[in-house]
Amino acid sequence: MSRRKLCQICGGKAYKRYFGVVSCENCKEFYKYSVRTGKLYVCSGNKEGEEQQCSINLKADTEPCKRCLFDKCKAKGMTRLDVKLYQRFNRRQLPIKTPGIIKQLVRVYFSVFQLQERQFQAKNAKPLLLSDTPLEKSRSSYKASMFSQLCSQYEPLIYKMVKFFSRVPEFSTLPSDDQLILLKTGFIDAWLVLNARNLSIVQDSLTLCDGAQIPVCEFTTVYTKDYVTSLLELSDDFRVMKLLPYDRAVILALVVLCSDRPNLIATDKVKEMKDSLLKSFRQFLQLTRPSNTNLYTKITNLLSSIYDIGKQHALLMNMYRAELDNLHVSSVITELFDLHPPHAYKES
Ligand SMILES: [Zn+2]
Ligand SMILES: [Zn+2]
Repeated sequence: MSRRKLCQICGGKAYKRYFGVVSCENCKEFYKYSVRTGKLYVCSGNKEGEEQQCSINLKADTEPCKRCLFDKCKAKGMTRLDVKLYQRFNRRQLPIKTPGIIKQLVRVYFSVFQLQERQFQAKNAKPLLLSDTPLEKSRSSYKASMFSQLCSQYEPLIYKMVKFFSRVPEFSTLPSDDQLILLKTGFIDAWLVLNARNLSIVQDSLTLCDGAQIPVCEFTTVYTKDYVTSLLELSDDFRVMKLLPYDRAVILALVVLCSDRPNLIATDKVKEMKDSLLKSFRQFLQLTRPSNTNLYTKITNLLSSIYDIGKQHALLMNMYRAELDNLHVSSVITELFDLHPPHAYKES
């Protein structure tokens, strides 16, 4: 059972966050209804310049003042956009003419990444320090230990990606070696799709999609200043485009279906799958956001930015291949980022 909390709007019993605010069912339903119907309430009590007197308790005997209740919902941080996302999310509404492959990806995405989407909405951030080792250690081992810490943050996504792609029927028809190569080389790209929209700097920290807030200076130490700058630029691009969870489902598949990856066997098939997905996505965007004519082009630009950052990340791994003794990462991470001794890596 979840722990009982108090509704930040009316003070009643609450168990969850709705639209970003710990609130009770009544207040949530009231706010949702008000936004959906676009009602304009008039305050029944307060006179200008007076402190709040109106009752906003939905369960009290007296009729609550809807205006004051609505204002309080807004003041506590509920937004219209949250309601829209919530509705789309819960009903998983897609237009009837949505291409089949998009419907399929969205269904799988919601079943695997629903929690991630919700956690992001709830904005339940928690600070995370990568460095627990004292600073006097030599700089490179200090870096390696912070990177190890960050890797344990990456790790759960690996399993989710495997789960997601194993349920995309077309992906499973690729040779299993190819599936592995695509998941491995597309990992950072996928991580970016899930995290980028949220990677703004708040109180000198980067917030990841699971709510972890990592100090920017630590991120810069683990990678480079240029890398972090690219992340922040990508984050801006994501936010400006106001993508929906549906879009992320498709973009996630698109970044992984990359026929340029080295050592692929079924290159043509991967390319074919990607092209046909792009075509369906274009139809979907026209169907759902017909007035936003550049959106498809913007998204294809976004895909190439993601690809570039993924490549930067792969190059940066060289510095940790020289620090293997100081890394404390799981064998899964070792495989994922090819963290083998430099000579062994070249041979393969
Ligand atoms: Zn309430
Ligand atoms: Zn009032």
